[in-house]
Amino acid sequence: MRLKKEIVRVGQNLAASGLVVGTWGNISARDAGRAGFWITPSGMNYAALKTKDLVLIDRQGQIMEGFRKPSTEFLMHLHTYSQRPDIAAVIHTHSVYASAHAVARLAIPGIIEDMVQIIGGEVEVTPYHLPGTQELAEAVAQALAAKNAVLLANHGMVGVGQNLAEAFKVCQIVEKTAQIHTYSRILGTPVFLSNEDIAQMRKGYLENYGQRSAGKEV
Ligand SMILES: [Zn+2]
Repeated sequence: MRLKKEIVRVGQNLAASGLVVGTWGNISARDAGRAGFWITPSGMNYAALKTKDLVLIDRQGQIMEGFRKPSTEFLMHLHTYSQRPDIAAVIHTHSVYASAHAVARLAIPGIIEDMVQIIGGEVEVTPYHLPGTQELAEAVAQALAAKNAVLLANHGMVGVGQNLAEAFKVCQIVEKTAQIHTYSRILGTPVFLSNEDIAQMRKGYLENYGQRSAGKEV
């Protein structure tokens, strides 16, 4: 129940943050005890969302619990969890600056400290596939193999994390970096961080940042 309450709360925060509008976007969290993940339902406003509206999906993509129709993008979440056993939360948003990059088919380069630390480098754009398809799900999972975020061509973005708080932070930082990248191109020519510096910062984040080593939330 704690996990389901947290998904509902993150949904409200997501709507309040402006990263999604209306009923679009979706959130899921892995439930290790039930060998599946809880996901938001299709087409429901975040303000109206209750824990009973969430749907539990197993590793084969079958509904285990819940009376609602799951998000139409549940395949994207399913494939991402099987690709990344180390993560426990997936959030999909249609945030404006990230989506602008996805429409221009322009990766968000590694340009700023928090972004390369939490994501692990540039955020690439998947080839275009229709929403809700197996093809989109596979392309997203593949792009997330080594990074914590990806842009979906002409659609939006997906962020993942070890918990819901981290996945939400990834979505916020991708949006902030997309905004910074846009402004930096207006002001001049952005200078990208080197791969060596990115690798160093990512390593430092994974090993030392926050209270991770003490087993607390980052
Ligand atoms: Zn979408």
